[in-house]
Amino acid sequence: MTLTVQPHREAVGLKAGRLYIDGQWTAANGTWTHRHPATGEVIGEFAVATRSEVDAAVAAARTAFESGAWSNSRANTRIALLHRYADLLREHAEELRALQALDNSVPLSFGSIYAISVGAAADVFDHHAGWVDKLGGQTLPPYQGGDHLAMTFREPLGVVAAILPWNAPFLLFAQKVAPALAAGCTIVLKPSEYATFTVLRMVELLVEAGLPAGTLNVVTGPGDPVGEALITHPDVDKVSFTGSRAVGKRIVEASAGTLKRVSLELGGKSPALVFADAPNIGLAAAIVVGAVTMGLSGQACVANTRALVHRDVYDEFLGAAQGMASTITYGDPFDPGVLACPLINERQLERVLGYIEKGKEEGRLVTGGERLGGDLAAGNFVGPTIFADVDNSATIAQEEIFGPVLAVVPFSDEEEAVRLANDTEYGLGAGLFTADVQRAFRVSRRLRAGTVGINGFQIEPHLPFGGFKQSGLGREGGDSSIEAYTELKSVFMPLTDEMM
Ligand code: NAD
Repeated sequence: MTLTVQPHREAVGLKAGRLYIDGQWTAANGTWTHRHPATGEVIGEFAVATRSEVDAAVAAARTAFESGAWSNSRANTRIALLHRYADLLREHAEELRALQALDNSVPLSFGSIYAISVGAAADVFDHHAGWVDKLGGQTLPPYQGGDHLAMTFREPLGVVAAILPWNAPFLLFAQKVAPALAAGCTIVLKPSEYATFTVLRMVELLVEAGLPAGTLNVVTGPGDPVGEALITHPDVDKVSFTGSRAVGKRIVEASAGTLKRVSLELGGKSPALVFADAPNIGLAAAIVVGAVTMGLSGQACVANTRALVHRDVYDEFLGAAQGMASTITYGDPFDPGVLACPLINERQLERVLGYIEKGKEEGRLVTGGERLGGDLAAGNFVGPTIFADVDNSATIAQEEIFGPVLAVVPFSDEEEAVRLANDTEYGLGAGLFTADVQRAFRVSRRLRAGTVGINGFQIEPHLPFGGFKQSGLGREGGDSSIEAYTELKSVFMPLTDEMM
């Protein structure tokens, strides 16, 4: 039977996507047609913002920022709004998951994974609500003696352009919007063209929560021209971006004109180090393969797509990894038995298949390696793919493939494992599996990665997340988010005329 998601589209009552500028929803020109990655069906249309609409959105954010309608309102009002929004997200979790399944085909079953769930996004808003009345500075003792005050203040940074990828719209919307609002900034948001309907609904709920007009504006459409118009806009103070390294580099280039502040959350080639003393090799293999296949089909920035495995447990790991791969199911994202999504578009499908061909020259294919056919032929499905005996310098061990492809690299001792783990241009995440507590901390300190998981991995609202090396600039989460959306100001004041 041919796969279709049309009944679900009708059930959620999907409407044409509109822009949201200065408190007004403006009619969509409908110039972008979104096709479902699992079926190729047309899901809906949304506006591609013109340059003048981007200008209007930035101007609205600027006016709202200068007015202080949001940043100067009572702290209690802002705290209550952010909590109210968190509650609204939780109330609408099912609807949002359905919209996401229509946008990017991430299966409903994956909703139970905390890190990218609606619940995690709601928690991020609750967490940042707590910062609103705690953005204090310091009062320092006079350095030169005498009678004066030296103080610091944290001021909201200004107008933020927030640009999102398609793969985790709930969490990544929250990771940018919650701290920017908590800090008192105003925002122009651009969702990915592959997850627009989900984000537009999240914005509708924010409007329902009572956000003042102009505080958050939304422009939709592809990176070029809509994203470009934002990152080159002279009146944007900061670009907060999550996406590919290539676009991240373009943003750094474009920021030079007006020296915009830039935060970048980019890609990775994260290693999982499986030591011979791991408490449970089968479980380690299930976690590693699950991260590269379940839910997002490896289209996750922090997925551990390189497994570095000690030679003593190498065969056992490979056997368990193949077993785990055989349990991954594909199809209708609304079917509770479906565990993983297709690749987001045909371009990504071709790219991943190209890496798989390369992998056949560079390693030993032990599982998968093919596009899935039959009922799934109209979608961009590729099954779990495992390459063994890969040299760490191989293309498939070095480049971010963004698909369900795991490269397994053997190692002989801890020193070699750490060297291989760090031998990459990226540094987003790393995982290690060991029962030796001293080794766990010793190795985690030596890994050049923003987040390290010991026998497991989780993203939490109060933990900074971000990358070393070419995986990014800055951090999101916890107090690092607040620093990212504020400027620090020093104020000096003599208390007598002698210091003048
Ligand atoms: P992408 O870079 O193709 O697109 C991301 C966003 O940038 C989209 O909204 C896109 O429209 C926009 N864009 C594209 N070109 C632009 C330009 N010239 N100017 C301004 N905006 C532009 O990435 P994607 O395919 O949506 O997401 C996948 C990438 O995101 C992967 O590399 C993944 O590792 C990374 N990612 C990182 C994190 C993290 O937290 N570090 C999280 C999720 C995804």
